[in-house]
Amino acid sequence: MARGRPAVTRARVLNYWRNHGPCPIMQVVRATGADRSYVKRILLQERTMEIHGKSLIIDDDVIRRFNEKIDKSPGQGPGGDCWIWIGARDSYNYARGIMVNGRMVRGTHLSLAIAGRERPSLDLIALHSCDNRPCVNPDHLRWGTDIDNAEDHRQRGRRGPHWLPDEVVHEIHRSNERNLDIARRLGMTPAAICNIRKGRAHKRIYDQYYPVT
Ligand SMILES: [Zn+2]
Repeated sequence: MARGRPAVTRARVLNYWRNHGPCPIMQVVRATGADRSYVKRILLQERTMEIHGKSLIIDDDVIRRFNEKIDKSPGQGPGGDCWIWIGARDSYNYARGIMVNGRMVRGTHLSLAIAGRERPSLDLIALHSCDNRPCVNPDHLRWGTDIDNAEDHRQRGRRGPHWLPDEVVHEIHRSNERNLDIARRLGMTPAAICNIRKGRAHKRIYDQYYPVT
């Protein structure tokens, strides 16, 4: 911070960034009245994050490319507010990520870092509270250990291996979409959709649609 610069300006810039960011630098300049070079300098500190032990700068271009890979339209995932990664996914259906300063950064990690929740240590992984693997909504993510992850799975296991809210199962039966399309929208695999539609999972609801006569 420049000497003599009122701390209130800095607070205003950072507050705006927390409430409206990630957004272009000029938007912050217009909203706060602070000058451009000052905003740039503050946000550069704020948006430099440690990933894989290296400081990477999250600039407007990174944020633009991140946003391009996300579908934020409502109604996705169990709570209806998942952000679905529409870029490449790994074989487990998790968001792969984008290149930042020559390094591949996972979609979930980048999302948390942009939200101001940098990875606290390298042994932590991003865990989903929504259980929706391609989701990168930072509100559904938290840093945790492998042990936390196993505990999450154990808790969900109690609700059965094919746990899904009933209304989602109904939606799958009522939909005319292809397995692939509905699977993408709900963050599931086409095979899981097929199992529900054929009555191999959630038989009780299946029977309401295809009663045995
Ligand atoms: Zn989610």
